[in-house]
Amino acid sequence: MPKLSDRVHTFTDSVIRRMTRISDEHGALNLSQGFPDFDPPREILDTLAKVAYEGPHQYPITFGAENFRQALAEKQGRAFGRTIDPETEIVVTCGGTEAMMCAMMTICNPGDKVLVFSPFYENYGADAILSGATPIYIPLVPPTYEFDLSLIEDGFKQGAKAIIVCNPSNPCGKVFTREELMAIGELALKYDAFVVTDEVYEHMVYAPNKHTCVASLPGMYNNTITCNSLSKTYSITGWRLGYLIGPAEVIENAKKVHDFLTVGAASPLQEAATVGLKFPQSYYDQLLETYTEKRNYFLAGLDKIGLKHNVPQGTYFVMIDIQDFLDLPQFQGWTDLEFCEWMIINIGVAAVPGSSFFKEEVNHLIRLHFAREKSTLDEALSRLSKLQELLK
Ligand code: GLN
Repeated sequence: MPKLSDRVHTFTDSVIRRMTRISDEHGALNLSQGFPDFDPPREILDTLAKVAYEGPHQYPITFGAENFRQALAEKQGRAFGRTIDPETEIVVTCGGTEAMMCAMMTICNPGDKVLVFSPFYENYGADAILSGATPIYIPLVPPTYEFDLSLIEDGFKQGAKAIIVCNPSNPCGKVFTREELMAIGELALKYDAFVVTDEVYEHMVYAPNKHTCVASLPGMYNNTITCNSLSKTYSITGWRLGYLIGPAEVIENAKKVHDFLTVGAASPLQEAATVGLKFPQSYYDQLLETYTEKRNYFLAGLDKIGLKHNVPQGTYFVMIDIQDFLDLPQFQGWTDLEFCEWMIINIGVAAVPGSSFFKEEVNHLIRLHFAREKSTLDEALSRLSKLQELLK
């Protein structure tokens, strides 16, 4: 067989999505890949049913259907505290995944450096490789996930073109404070670099933490590319609706990248989801209340079992410390991946091994998510309680 590209040998498949496949094979409760097991809002589904007969069913405008972009500009304009031009400052993509890839392809030349916090959402590594960029990792140090600003400045001094900020942060649940983002932004401006943000969990920020859009910070708009998605906010991860927002010159070029990558996101789904983008503030308040309850309930359950965990400030992920288990004779020398595979088969709960998010050698953390109905969380907690028996 002729040889494949060198590029494809430099990264693995997504471990997050692999864990879902293994979980399904064994019929486990899947708390690995983050997606809800409850329905999207009724209004969106009713509109989708109507769209089935009334259309549209053909290509949308490549950079997004007009009404979808208009609704998006209004919603995100409120978040950014400025007017967003839906014609020149938005590209609608196939999910947040394409948005990030599109941002990287738009700003990076092969050989460019990009700053990435570690732990990171695993797509960023592959995005860097596919766009030819080299990541420089900035540790977010567990358990508090703080970072050293001087390392960011060092990275920019090495010529980094951009910094990727996932806020709230997958997998560690960190919510960057306004002060932290201002400091990062100041450095980006000083070294003439971009801040590329991934804000897909923007509506899952638990009190007293607050979400700050980098694009809303004074002087930052022209250096910021915001990647986002409707997946988490409207519980429609399978619809693959994402977007980029940025200054017109960036977006004009991102539109070309997007056009040749995918042409466009599904037009019937854009039409149906436009209803969601027009929801009043009460929808987002309710969403946050629901996730706050789930978070508190699940964390309390973990405490009762005695599993050590962080307290996420945002997102629907929690990191569990499995070191006590890895110290047991039967797990000596095991990797976190092996432990997760064992857990799927023997405990019936799927998690993501933490090592797939860290650049550093981290083998003692696994990620679970709680975007599940209460009954599913109960079942998961009851299964997880079997883990603790191993320590007795
Ligand atoms: N963000 C989700 C997670 O980290 C998965 C997203 C995806 O698989 N595209 O689990």
